[in-house]
Amino acid sequence: MKREAWKPEAGAQFDSLEQSEQLALDENLEGAIALEIPTESFANVSRIAARSQSIQMHYQVAMSQPESHLFEVTLHVSNWQADTALNLKMPVWTPGSYLIREYARHLQNFSAVCSTESPLPWRKVGKNHWQIDPQGSTTLTICYQIYANELSVRTNHLDSTHGYFNGAALFFYIPGYEQQSIQVEIVPPQSDWQITTTLPAVSGVANTFEAIDFDTLVDSPFEIGKHQLFEFEALGKPHQLAVWREGNLESDRLISDIQRIIQVEANLFGGLPYDRYLFLLHLSSHGFGGLEHKNSCSLIYQRFGFRNKDKYDRFIQLVAHEFFHLWNVKRIRPKGLEVFDYEQENYTPSLWFSEGTTSYYDLIIPYRAGIYDIRTYLNALSKEVSRFLTAPGRLVQPLAESSFDAWVKLYRQDANSPNTQMSYYLKGEMVSLLLDLQIRSRHSNKRSFDDVLRLLWEQFGKSEIGFTPEQLQQTIESVAGLDLSDFCHHALNTTAELPFDQYLEPFGMRLLPDRDDSLPVLGLTLKTEHGREVIKFVESGSPAQQVGIDAGDELLAINGIRITADQLSDRLRDHQPGDSLQVTWFHQDELRQAALTLAAPRPTRFQLIPCDRPTRKQEQLFHGWLGVSLGEIM
Ligand SMILES: [Zn+2]
Repeated sequence: MKREAWKPEAGAQFDSLEQSEQLALDENLEGAIALEIPTESFANVSRIAARSQSIQMHYQVAMSQPESHLFEVTLHVSNWQADTALNLKMPVWTPGSYLIREYARHLQNFSAVCSTESPLPWRKVGKNHWQIDPQGSTTLTICYQIYANELSVRTNHLDSTHGYFNGAALFFYIPGYEQQSIQVEIVPPQSDWQITTTLPAVSGVANTFEAIDFDTLVDSPFEIGKHQLFEFEALGKPHQLAVWREGNLESDRLISDIQRIIQVEANLFGGLPYDRYLFLLHLSSHGFGGLEHKNSCSLIYQRFGFRNKDKYDRFIQLVAHEFFHLWNVKRIRPKGLEVFDYEQENYTPSLWFSEGTTSYYDLIIPYRAGIYDIRTYLNALSKEVSRFLTAPGRLVQPLAESSFDAWVKLYRQDANSPNTQMSYYLKGEMVSLLLDLQIRSRHSNKRSFDDVLRLLWEQFGKSEIGFTPEQLQQTIESVAGLDLSDFCHHALNTTAELPFDQYLEPFGMRLLPDRDDSLPVLGLTLKTEHGREVIKFVESGSPAQQVGIDAGDELLAINGIRITADQLSDRLRDHQPGDSLQVTWFHQDELRQAALTLAAPRPTRFQLIPCDRPTRKQEQLFHGWLGVSLGEIM
């Protein structure tokens, strides 16, 4: 965010913006402002107030007993208006992860004192809102502890081996002062713990860093401990890879591949918009995930997942994905995410672009970087198409709605989610593929979706002005040279099937449904848990649902013989669609039995394959898209 934020030209977002600014005014700046500029609008008043009244905020983060998982946080506020209550608010979410996480629930032992160490009265005004009476003091010291025992990229983790935190989950903001700089001093528990972050160090002050505003503080995770730290250059700029815990990664190979990813993505966007960048990697037994930041990313991955080729490729795609985000979503932002409101959901219908297009590129970037070959790429893309075309939720939830409802759906999966939800990552990836193919075929590969990204970067990303859904469509149309209103309407606002073959055909490609392993359909998935065969998912309208089988039920037998998860396919293979099966199961501890009729098989996989006898034009288009001839993939 630029310092002179609140971007007055950003009309569409102003409703929610003004509300939050008005709140800040009501709670914090009342008397002083009213006297200065009685006729100004709330938005203008707040902006001027923040400029005219400068306060100092200094955080100290200690961790004297890391095994207790408690960060000990001290906030010093100085130059405060002695007669004005100090409001402190903790974010309820962090950008990049669209769920209300209620970070304040981890806070304990809150206290406040004045400059003479006398306790100051305070009260809670809301779940994440503390209010302190300064009692005439211009200097206030606030102490609290944050319990940090969740190993994920978007929360905090502290134990005897390290401390990791995200600003949104650790720090308060002072409404009306979000644009002021904040210092952070780290007190490690041992002298051999190092501190890694992208915030600049304050010169001459040990272990102290400065964020130019609250957004930057939230966007700059810290890793503190004895992690391995690798330094390397890419395009003349310094980069770091910090690795917590041991695993089987080969650092030289990994850094070389990361450098290639950086090179390819920088070429796409035309340079690197940062001074330095940090890859922060946590190794765990089964972890997978990433969180993007402007100048860094946090990654979590399985510690022994670097030698197996498929797993290594998956990790490289994760790196390509999070790095791509430094442009797409961190700087090229939907209007709904232009100015972050840390107190509530920030809605946008455009996450299909922020996440889906990023997912489309996370597969192709490693291929362009020469990290894997064309077959690996096409197989990976085929898997994504298969996941999409076998997801029942694609026929229920439109893409724009999936994005808007991320806060209550995608991040809150339950047993029925696959029936009713369509991930904006996955369908957004498919829509990006079809848009890329449309642009490429119309312009003989002289234009592509890369041009859309470059144009968005120029028009919205560099200045960090949020784009509206209409502006996004206009930008794509201007590159495509096509009216895409019909395509966009169907792809984003309806559940109409996507016309894959229509857009693949000019490239000499088609989708082959794989019927070899198709089985008569029962309509459930099964997993063995503690020796019980538990039903994980029941498809809407399936034979299983029709007889009342539910997710969570325990499946016992088919035709009187015990069934296990690993035998289910083999048992179904003995039958034909239309056959009747006797199924026995427990539903809420009650024994049930019913006869059900198996449904017709459906493809479970789709493979992207060349058409028979491609034309010269198809050959040319395919070569222009992926740089190899169709013959090489036959
Ligand atoms: Zn992402």
